Amino acid sequence: MINQRMRVNENTMSKVTLIVPVFNEADVIADFCAELTNVTNKISVKNPIFFEILLVDDGSSDNSAEIIQKMTKDDALFTGIYFSRNFGKEAAMLAGIEHATGDAVIVIDADFQHPAELISDMINKWQEGSHVVDAVKRKRAQSSFLNTIMASAFNHIMSVSTGRDMAGASDFKLLDRQVIDAIKAMPEKNRFFRGLVAWVGFDVSQIVFDTQPRRAGEKKWPFRSLLNYAINNIVAFTSLPLKIMGLVGFVLALGGGGLLLQTMVRYFSGHAVEGFTTVIAIQLITGGFILIAIGVISLYLSKIYNEIKGRPIYITKKIKIDDSDSV
Ligand code: UDP
Ligand code: MG
Repeated sequence: MINQRMRVNENTMSKVTLIVPVFNEADVIADFCAELTNVTNKISVKNPIFFEILLVDDGSSDNSAEIIQKMTKDDALFTGIYFSRNFGKEAAMLAGIEHATGDAVIVIDADFQHPAELISDMINKWQEGSHVVDAVKRKRAQSSFLNTIMASAFNHIMSVSTGRDMAGASDFKLLDRQVIDAIKAMPEKNRFFRGLVAWVGFDVSQIVFDTQPRRAGEKKWPFRSLLNYAINNIVAFTSLPLKIMGLVGFVLALGGGGLLLQTMVRYFSGHAVEGFTTVIAIQLITGGFILIAIGVISLYLSKIYNEIKGRPIYITKKIKIDDSDSV
């Protein structure tokens, strides 16, 4: 049960930071910023809240960065953070979280797929006491059959490992300062935002939304990247694949033991079968399994290697806050 801490106080105004990861969104970003201005203005009329909007340019190769720069010059509501290259959405969201000064943050996509009018409902839930407000997808728009199957398999594995239902989970979320600080304190490099938020706990509430079709521009996730993303996050979050390997190894060994017993009995009773095919089949199965198991172990090893290197998750080229550039 959510405790009813009211966060709005007559003397102190709350501040909410909106974080928008941007990668090659030149076709939509100006319109989206206009939409955010509109939505935040409407909220401020009824609700005493300051807004800060962080536009994180994730190394776009189109002119998104120039548009963002213009936006931040014209309107102090917006701040631009510019990466030195494309580091991926996870890095962009983290940069936003690390630079946010709000009492709460809301992460929202730049392509209109996350309806900005829900921001108001999210803030209401936060003011009623929720630490996390999850926007949950009712249905996925513009998804192929293969992507839908993959997404549901992925969500299932992640639900098992976080202990929270991840079906329909999205990155469109509000996080209270306490949650932000908990997430910032995690030192891991291979990060899965949705999973981390589920993992830290706190009081969570949900709102349901229909994913809108992307307004313009291209989806940045080809199938290969999605597969990579899924594998990365599974490995980042759970050692389940290693345990499964152990289990399969155990079952194979048990089967092998049975087969060995049967072969011995036949041998000593003078009925040894020639069994060349069986030998080949067993060799191939065990050989194949061993290679898969080594592959899975290597995946984890490569993640450990990356963590140990301790490189930064992103590199900023420039941060523009009001009228002063900083590097
Ligand atoms: N994005 C990003 N870096 C990337 C890819 C995407 O910052 O490397 C941003 C993108 O600009 C958008 C959001 O992340 O605001 C979601 O990306 P997209 O629409 O391509 O993916 P979806 O999750 O909608 O399939
Ligand atoms: Mg999108």
